[in-house]
Amino acid sequence: MSIQLFTPNFRVEECLEEVRECLEKGWTGLGFKTQEIEEKWKEYTKLPYAHFLSSATAGLHLALEIFKRENGWDNDDEVITTPLTFISTNHAILYADMKPVFADVDEYLCLCPESVEKAITSKTKALIFVGIGGNAGQYNRIRELCTKHNIKLVLDAAHMAGTRINGNHAGFDADVSVFSFQAVKNLPTADSGMICFQDEALDKRARKLSWLGIDKDTFARSANKGAYKWRYDVDEIGYKYHGNSIMAGLALVGLKYLDRDNAFRRQLASWYRSELKDCDGLTVVPVSGDCESSHHLIQIRVQNRDSVLQKLNDAQIYPGVHYSSNIEYGPYKRELSDFPKSTAASNEIISLPMHMNLTFNDVVAITTELKRIVSAS
Ligand SMILES: *Cc1c(COP(=O)(O)O)cnc(C)c1O
Repeated sequence: MSIQLFTPNFRVEECLEEVRECLEKGWTGLGFKTQEIEEKWKEYTKLPYAHFLSSATAGLHLALEIFKRENGWDNDDEVITTPLTFISTNHAILYADMKPVFADVDEYLCLCPESVEKAITSKTKALIFVGIGGNAGQYNRIRELCTKHNIKLVLDAAHMAGTRINGNHAGFDADVSVFSFQAVKNLPTADSGMICFQDEALDKRARKLSWLGIDKDTFARSANKGAYKWRYDVDEIGYKYHGNSIMAGLALVGLKYLDRDNAFRRQLASWYRSELKDCDGLTVVPVSGDCESSHHLIQIRVQNRDSVLQKLNDAQIYPGVHYSSNIEYGPYKRELSDFPKSTAASNEIISLPMHMNLTFNDVVAITTELKRIVSAS
């Protein structure tokens, strides 16, 4: 039997019921279930606004684009970001025609406050904090720095559905947070996401810009009786970024089970931690003390990472790597030695299998194999 990194676990009957409802009603697009998931998401997270999108990548672009337009930022204004993330995070900065400025990470694999402080210039307008694996790292200190320097804090919460920081849902004090419900995230649909601003005007603008700049959605128009319900206005250029009711239906089912699923992920993580403690040559990436992590990931660090990965594959265990340092890639090329902690992490990290179909015995099998490989190398 082989053990995969991620195996999404859909409640198939409930999902089909949601999809059936969309098909029978003849409403698969924007509106209907997209409104329902927005309401349920706000109820669950206590965030004031939520707009359902086609992806978190779209959301990250929209977040920066909206702040840029609202505040009249320039193309040479800077956004502080991390090298250790999925490439979406940094592409979003380039989509918005701004300048990514990298800072280094800490032991949590999240942005390091000291490194961020050194990266701040008079052109710094925003910072994207990525909660890798659901971990909040030193988010609270980054929040303070952003407030002190008047920098907009964008939370890339792609891994943070259900993460609490000091008991609050991730995003509660970010200027905007963006969640992902992509196929292998901890609240999987196929592709969708949520953008949550703190401010009503920005939420409205997100709704407009996610639908090409059109100023009211089809659902609102069909409720608007009379001969003029086809009318709309377009006063700026937007994008086709909104979500649809099929995806929203899947998200509604996932949301019902999110806390339960995350609690199981934390159980798996604590089994991994106890099986791997006192293992020479291997460390488990810690979760910061004020964070109840979604545990989208459980990450470890080893020397000879590539050979450890190969040997795990030989034993039919298929972990992953989140992520290679983005400054190795063409559009973001920087001196690797200028970001020593991200560079080291990029070469040492492994994400161990983490999904709902794993058992305690799987964790024991994986960690036994891992300890054997690491002690022999
Ligand atoms: C998956 C991911 C994204 C993008 O999410 P999509 O919904 O697939 O666009 C952004 N940032 C991080 C850290 C991610 O892991």
